[in-house]
Amino acid sequence: MISYSEAKLIILETVKTLGTKSILLKDALNYVLAEHIKAPFDLPLFDNSSVDGYGVKIADVSQAAKNKPVNLPLQDIIRAGNHNNIYLNSGCTVKILTGAKVPKSVDAIVMREYCDEKQSVISIAYSPKYGENIRRQSEELKKGKSILESGTLITPAVIGLLATLGINKISVYKKPKIAIVTTGDELLKPGRGIAPGKIYDSNSFALLSAINLLGIVDCMHYHAKENKSHTHKILAAAAKYADVIISAGGVSVGDYDFVKDVSEELGFETLIWKIAIKPGKPVYFGRKQLNNKGKIFFGLPGNPVSSLITYHQLVKPALQKIIGLKEEDIREQSKIFTAKLTKAIAKKPGRMEFVRGRLMVEKGELKVSPTIGQESHMLSGLSNANCLIHFPLDKEKLNVHDLVDIELIQWANN
Ligand code: AMP
Ligand code: MG
Repeated sequence: MISYSEAKLIILETVKTLGTKSILLKDALNYVLAEHIKAPFDLPLFDNSSVDGYGVKIADVSQAAKNKPVNLPLQDIIRAGNHNNIYLNSGCTVKILTGAKVPKSVDAIVMREYCDEKQSVISIAYSPKYGENIRRQSEELKKGKSILESGTLITPAVIGLLATLGINKISVYKKPKIAIVTTGDELLKPGRGIAPGKIYDSNSFALLSAINLLGIVDCMHYHAKENKSHTHKILAAAAKYADVIISAGGVSVGDYDFVKDVSEELGFETLIWKIAIKPGKPVYFGRKQLNNKGKIFFGLPGNPVSSLITYHQLVKPALQKIIGLKEEDIREQSKIFTAKLTKAIAKKPGRMEFVRGRLMVEKGELKVSPTIGQESHMLSGLSNANCLIHFPLDKEKLNVHDLVDIELIQWANN
């Protein structure tokens, strides 16, 4: 059995991006940029006002104060969107609204709150500094400056920035098509009546929602009955459709666990089988070339907590690499920090455990409590958790008040 860190390394070394495509900005959320973006023009593009107020020459208002206003005649009004080359005369003022272009002849803008407007004469009770309330051309970005690197996740803020720069089409990494394959004759769909000995399928719902949160939407659900020929037929169809096949269950050493054997029959090269982790020992990872396309196979365990935790720890980073995220950003998501354990926990040595925990801040200190329901079929324990305590492979006990390693449970890309 290989270790968790070895397995993660093999997986991240194996998976690759799937090429790029051009996309409209309105459709770009949760894609990853596949080009460097440089500012096509200065930002701001022109000097403009950050307030509603009155443009002045410094010399005219240098003596103005709260109890000693200076009266200046109103020369003109400049609104946002106006383009007129007003020259402000000495001894006059000009009304300027937020976002409006500020003429070079204006030294500063006094906020409206310090001014009183009466019949085209403005009383100004404030002496501004040169440039006050003027947003200068290029103070944020100079034309030609690199602002977004390839590999940047497209968030609402990135979309806003691209729109600000007038960019409507960008190059992004393609998203993979995913096949989710459930196995087991005991499964029924939620919403139908239950039957003796049966349980509801939760894995396809949980996995699909997790995949969707990464911004991946092309997903098909397949179900393999518990016999080898049907498993063969279903996995072949899944491999034909998808770039990444994610199965749940049927991957262990039970009499009806066909996933690994059938994957190999279908030509997948086994790169990992069994990892020294709990939950989730029987994880399968393989790859094959089909019609010049690299296909990736994750065979996850069937127990609902095992399948979701192994997804979170191993499949999610792989999918994030496939959609183009930078490896340092992927690593950042699973960064380890420490918290004080509120309750002792014990295990057998030999497997690293991901204990479902609840992290909280108490009097400025990070504390973590294991949730109730730690067995791999108990989704309630995972539902109440917001982090995973890393219980090292060879340790048998973590004591109350120990500082332990934890990692946040984070389903989305950021
Ligand atoms: P297996 O790995 O196929 O032996 O499955 C391990 C356990 O997970 C068994 O108790 C299965 O009933 C359960 N299981 C497998 N697939 C699912 C699923 N899609 N939803 C809920 N439980 C499942
Ligand atoms: Mg099964």
